[in-house]
Amino acid sequence: MPSTAPILVEKTKLERPPLEIHYLGDRVLRQNCKRVSRVDDKVRQFAKEMLQSMYSADGIGLAAPQVGISKQMLVVDCNLDDPTTPPLILINPKIKKFSRDIAVGPEGCLSIPGVYLDVKRPEAIEVTYKDERGRPQTRTFTGLPSRAIQHEMDHLEGIMFVDRADNELELTQELAKHGFSFKDVRRIKKGK
Ligand code: ZN
Repeated sequence: MPSTAPILVEKTKLERPPLEIHYLGDRVLRQNCKRVSRVDDKVRQFAKEMLQSMYSADGIGLAAPQVGISKQMLVVDCNLDDPTTPPLILINPKIKKFSRDIAVGPEGCLSIPGVYLDVKRPEAIEVTYKDERGRPQTRTFTGLPSRAIQHEMDHLEGIMFVDRADNELELTQELAKHGFSFKDVRRIKKGK
């Protein structure tokens, strides 16, 4: 495949997804990820496998550490029902601006299946990143894509969405209900 070809991945579930998802409690989810030094065919192949694994798990976002790779890379697709809208592939993303408006919305995570909790996040973000062809991009995101990208970018710093959940009682109950342990949560104090 020539390196300039777009990454084409069917938005379907595979019986055997190429990558295995790691769960809350796994150390790989708590590490700071390293920058991707060069966007080459290997990186593009990995992005494709991340997308296939995400679609197979019915997710709208997946970060590299969730499949055991400590690299600054994530994929997001908020249009699962639309096969023609391409997914977002963000390499070495950095948030340049946060909106002052804060939005509260429910989040889940492929690494904590079954657990859904409200999380407060800035409504809009401006992000710089490299796309799958290595081209620098600057884009503003709002709504669900903004939330999904912020959630996935947290993963690149070893932060899980449960660390940010406000309601600690509900958090403890939800985790227990789905077989996870509160001791694997690292609460984030307000302001971070
Ligand atoms: Zn997640």
